[in-house]
Amino acid sequence: MLAPFRCVYAGGTFYGGVLIATTMTETAEVVIIGSGIVGSSVAYHLAEQGCTNVLVVEREAHQGKGSTGKSMGGVRAQFSTAVNIQMSRYSIDFFARFDEVVGHPADYRAHGYLFCATNERQLAYLHSNRERQLGLGVKNVELVSRADIAEFVPQLRVDDIVGGTFCQTDGFVDPHSVMMGFMLKARARGVRLWLDTQVTGIETEPAHTGTAGVPPAFQGTEADSSLRLRAGGTPAVPGESKIAGVMTSRGFISTRIVVNAAGPWAATVAGMAGAHLPVEPLRRQLVPTEPFNSLPQRFPMVIDMSTGFHFRREGKGILLAWNDPEETPGFKTDFEPAFVEKILTHAATRVPALAEAEVNPRRAWAGLYEMTPDHHAIIGPAPSVAGLYFVNGFSGHGVMHSPASGRIIADLILQGRTNLIDASQLGVERFAAGRLLAETAVL
Ligand SMILES: Cc1cc2nc3c(=O)[nH]c(=O)nc-3n(C[C@H](O)[C@H](O)[C@H](O)COP(=O)(O)OP(=O)(O)OC[C@H]3O[C@@H](n4cnc5c(N)ncnc54)[C@H](O)[C@@H]3O)c2cc1C
Repeated sequence: MLAPFRCVYAGGTFYGGVLIATTMTETAEVVIIGSGIVGSSVAYHLAEQGCTNVLVVEREAHQGKGSTGKSMGGVRAQFSTAVNIQMSRYSIDFFARFDEVVGHPADYRAHGYLFCATNERQLAYLHSNRERQLGLGVKNVELVSRADIAEFVPQLRVDDIVGGTFCQTDGFVDPHSVMMGFMLKARARGVRLWLDTQVTGIETEPAHTGTAGVPPAFQGTEADSSLRLRAGGTPAVPGESKIAGVMTSRGFISTRIVVNAAGPWAATVAGMAGAHLPVEPLRRQLVPTEPFNSLPQRFPMVIDMSTGFHFRREGKGILLAWNDPEETPGFKTDFEPAFVEKILTHAATRVPALAEAEVNPRRAWAGLYEMTPDHHAIIGPAPSVAGLYFVNGFSGHGVMHSPASGRIIADLILQGRTNLIDASQLGVERFAAGRLLAETAVL
């Protein structure tokens, strides 16, 4: 019996097993939807493990038009949950070797992150996080006093600061350059990238179907080996579906494995396969100052825990960040001019010299965090659609965790397991099962 699916692709239509037209169907072992820093890292890690029949599909004419191009580029191991600390450890080690290993600059600057507590409760929280970080092998997280903090940034108002933590290997990278490095290396190994190509649908078929219903161009080809590759990753159970291909504005791609790396748009992409993914877009705004010499040329990312205001040097100016608690979910990417006054108030309260900083609102920008209910990423196979993998919902940490995420997904696809973390913690099933993770150090 033929499987009840129909796919349309460049040059022809495939209807219930009958190929109408002679054009070859595009096939790939793995299709990655989205070429931001996460999709690029997945492509790189698959290729490094020998899986090069990979096609990355990106709707924009250039890479980096999603959240990746809007990021502040911060990387840190100072998290509160084990899984985030482990992902950061792998990723920061990777960034430190990136230029040599990938052959492209990451522009990793180990300037550190300096958390400043303004009450004993915050300080106790930093202390217990530090114990966990040390226990997981992050060796250089130091307790710092008010006087130490004043030495880092003498212009900081420290009268209400009771202490903090500093980790030298935290710092910044250039997200665009990391993304390009991953993709260039992946392409050099044979991965294909289709720009200007929108994914418009994902074809599935009942999981129990054999090769019936699979386009002939797919049967018995190299692409078919993917069915073996994903053994252990997505076991077929009665009632579930499996991936048959991806519909795009450029035609149909026959594949058994799809990686959803669509950033803030991930829930829509998951919905194309009939899967539910709890990822919501949330606007974040960043404000660069004009050249500003009243702060040191080099200092860490400073986090004022009383308000969440944080800042770092960016070239000749200072990059100011604060997550407005009044922001509501939605695809809002306009910068709101009124935000400048709000953030400058927090800035001047902590660093009085910043009251003199000049800001051109036209140089400020907004982008989207991809939020999950517990502020942790969702990484792993979709429970109900065999062959569909999620690598989404980074909740503000997608740049810093891109190396680990790419490696984890490549491991799960190719080996069905990973030794980098206990990946079951990040599976989407945790929400239905009530096994949420609690990370409070979200910036
Ligand atoms: C203001 C701001 C500051 C941030 N600061 C930091 C930070 O300091 N450190 C940090 O680690 N993270 C930070 N982040 C978060 C980080 O930028 C994201 O988590 C990360 O970039 C996500 O990468 P991605 O590749 O998953 O998504 P994206 O970069 O958004 O890429 C997704 C891609 O999918 C494509 N796409 C979507 N739908 C389709 C479709 N149907 N067909 C084809 N293509 C499609 C999009 O065009 C896009 O290119 C920040 C984010 C913002 C907004």
